[in-house]
Amino acid sequence: MSITPAPADGPSPTGAFRLPSSGGLLDTLDRPLRDLRISVTDRCNFRCVYCMPRAVFGKDYAFLEKDELLSFEEIERIARVAAAHGVRKLRLTGGEPLLRRGIEELIARLAALRTPDGKRLELALTTNGSALAVKAQALKDAGLDRLTVSVDSLDDELFQRMNDVRFPVSRVLDGIDAAHAVGIGPIKLNMVVKRGLNDGEIEAMATRFKGTPYTLRFIEYMDVGTSNGWSLDEVVSSAEIVKRIGALFPLEPVGAAATGETAQRWRYADGTGEIGVISSVTNTFCGTCNRARISTEGRLFTCLFATEGHDLRSILRSGAGDDELAAAMSSIWGARDDRYSEIRSSLTPELRAARPRIEMSYIGG
Ligand code: SAM
Ligand code: SF4
Ligand code: SF4
Repeated sequence: MSITPAPADGPSPTGAFRLPSSGGLLDTLDRPLRDLRISVTDRCNFRCVYCMPRAVFGKDYAFLEKDELLSFEEIERIARVAAAHGVRKLRLTGGEPLLRRGIEELIARLAALRTPDGKRLELALTTNGSALAVKAQALKDAGLDRLTVSVDSLDDELFQRMNDVRFPVSRVLDGIDAAHAVGIGPIKLNMVVKRGLNDGEIEAMATRFKGTPYTLRFIEYMDVGTSNGWSLDEVVSSAEIVKRIGALFPLEPVGAAATGETAQRWRYADGTGEIGVISSVTNTFCGTCNRARISTEGRLFTCLFATEGHDLRSILRSGAGDDELAAAMSSIWGARDDRYSEIRSSLTPELRAARPRIEMSYIGG
């Protein structure tokens, strides 16, 4: 199958997909595809209580078998086709991406990809940091640009209770410093805030990372998946977080750096850096959402809250050419109308609960 691009900014004669004048694909709400998040494993060495609670992800949980996972060749192929159609940023995630054997090799392959105008893609990875101290140099050598490390508390007892595998926070902090020392950057630190669990750590986290090379970002606890028993009462709003930190250290808003950026940025008035808040629940950003996600087994999800993914692995393994893969991705993105976070508040708890949702550890953050 070959692809005949539609006129710039115009409807496709086949209805399959549309190209903006800037190149790439547009969905039904005129959002381009720019950011591809690739889950490289559904496994994790942590059992964070808000993501992979032990009661669900216990020893009998059926993780994917090796041959079900996309191979590095298959991931590279999807990324290459995506780059040819507007993707400018790749983020490796999981599960815990550093558990995937040979992840450096995948990073090196992705670092060699180019956009149609010859530019490198931005390569990022989100990790729990547990293997960073060991892996940092190899990740840097392979070509990793950006890193996001999840740190939910500085209090070691609470940190261990949250990861539920007794992993000490000091080893994650050492890993972050190791990544900085080898020159990976920028490095962002993500803290998911759950009321009654770690919201007491907000001020300590801000104080600890103010004036460091790292940008701390607070994420509103989301209703991803169905295993974490989410309730709106457990969400601490970004507004509250900014107010609490601002009471300690005056903050000023910073404009968004790029369209589609998920975090609202605030800088310390004394010039010692900035924080971000990701208001996935209280101040949604679906209108500029340019992200797609590839699950570990090669399903394309057009929203973190999509009820189902589109099977690209079958296409890859059927012997289809790149043009056929591109046509499939184009028509999936062209039909996209997701905006779950915008409609969340209009759903009753019963309707929300009845809606099937994908686990964060499967689809990646
Ligand atoms: N294991 C890696 C890590 O923890 O960074 C990468 C995968 S993890 C699913 C990606 C991000 O999703 C992490 O920053 C994690 O804190 C966040 N996350 C997981 N469950 C969440 C939830 N229910 N609400 C908000 N963020 C969540
Ligand atoms: Fe693992 Fe990351 Fe989920 Fe924690 S948030 S259980 S580290 S995938
Ligand atoms: Fe994007 Fe879906 Fe999240 Fe909205 S809810 S910002 S469309 S991933």
